[in-house]
Amino acid sequence: MASQTNAFTIPKTMKAWVLGGPDELSLVDKPVPEPGRAEVLVRIDAIAVCATDIEIIKHGLPAIIDGGSPFNKGFTPGHEYMGTVVKLGPTVDEFEIGDRITVEVHAGCGRCQRCREGMYTSCLNYGYREKGHRANGFSTDGGFAEYAVNSVNTMVHVPDDMSDEEATLVVTAGTAMYGLDVMGGIIAGEPVVVLGPGPIGLMGVGVAKALGASPVILTGTRERRLEMGKRLGADHVVDVTKEDAVAAVARLTGGKGVHYVLECSGAPNALNEAARMVNRGGPHLPRRLSRRARAGRSRLSRAQQHLRVRHPRRRPERHAPGGGLDGPEAFRRQADPHPHFRTRRGADRHQIRARADRRRDQSGRENARG
Ligand SMILES: [Zn+2]
Ligand SMILES: [Zn+2]
Repeated sequence: MASQTNAFTIPKTMKAWVLGGPDELSLVDKPVPEPGRAEVLVRIDAIAVCATDIEIIKHGLPAIIDGGSPFNKGFTPGHEYMGTVVKLGPTVDEFEIGDRITVEVHAGCGRCQRCREGMYTSCLNYGYREKGHRANGFSTDGGFAEYAVNSVNTMVHVPDDMSDEEATLVVTAGTAMYGLDVMGGIIAGEPVVVLGPGPIGLMGVGVAKALGASPVILTGTRERRLEMGKRLGADHVVDVTKEDAVAAVARLTGGKGVHYVLECSGAPNALNEAARMVNRGGPHLPRRLSRRARAGRSRLSRAQQHLRVRHPRRRPERHAPGGGLDGPEAFRRQADPHPHFRTRRGADRHQIRARADRRRDQSGRENARG
């Protein structure tokens, strides 16, 4: 039996990819879900496969369902999708049947401290569906299926001149845009450096260019990705296997450096390099770091200052264990719920990495001494 809503006939069951054990994805018949209050049913028209989907299928995390692993729970992954609204849940008047929409991942629970502060990507009830938490393809069923339920809070309209395929990347572009936004926003004509030509970095190039940044400098190691960066608007690309990234930025900016560095590479030394690319008001970038900077403390605080990264000690509650998780899961949940989101917690991740690097450097020096 099938139900009919205006123009769309909705079947009772659908094809959906379901996660069994690690690395076990199977195509099964599953009931078409019913949208609840403030939710709609979306017919999936296009979906992108994200590296995080692969991570979830292999390792489970960062997907968490009912406080535990997503394996063998009938869970459907997939979070970068778009589609058509085919059914409205009770009270929904924000969207109409037939609307083309694309989705972001996180709806949050709407009731915890972080959701109330607007930091719903860092929801303290992450993974607890009974508390109302939703994150498409992470804690609730995602888009590797014919239909998916979505909160109206996670949907945006797609303009007619944007293709289905392009619309699947809206959240990726939005993540890069958020990064530029929390750095303070770009002033047209300012140079910007993007480190790392992964999907977020490439989107960072496109967004920076669209906002008027000039020149946009992209660094990376893979030729094909750097070429793609050029097509998306990079004025200069730097292959860091051939030229030192900081020296290249100095060369391309007349020695002055830049005010904005968007770090999207995750490379161990990237934060230090970013700090060394920043214009500090002098005529030239320093050739090498001062002794104090080498000691680590000031270079980190400079990076924080320039990258507008908040210091964790000012917000101790962010390091409190949350959501009833302990040990490595809690750390992981705190540190990396969705690596796309350079939220305040995303910033923490870089700080954690920078601290780890510093510790390693120090212990390396101690070992060399001892
Ligand atoms: Zn993703
Ligand atoms: Zn919440």
